[in-house]
Amino acid sequence: MLKLLLLVGALVAVYFIFFKKKSLTPPSADKTQDEAMIPCAKCDTYVQVKEAFMRDGKYYCSRECMEE
Ligand SMILES: [Zn+2]
Repeated sequence: MLKLLLLVGALVAVYFIFFKKKSLTPPSADKTQDEAMIPCAKCDTYVQVKEAFMRDGKYYCSRECMEE
């Protein structure tokens, strides 16, 4: 009977360790990168990387800023 309790206790411990590890996994890193905010090289307005215009390695908030 004592052995059975120890076995159940060990299984519960393993289950909780696994569950905790799983819940600590961070969300997709790619999504975080896409939603990062960067300042426009012309007017310093912050825009999302995925919506920014890029020229010569610099980010711009709009086509107007990029072409000036
Ligand atoms: Zn701008």
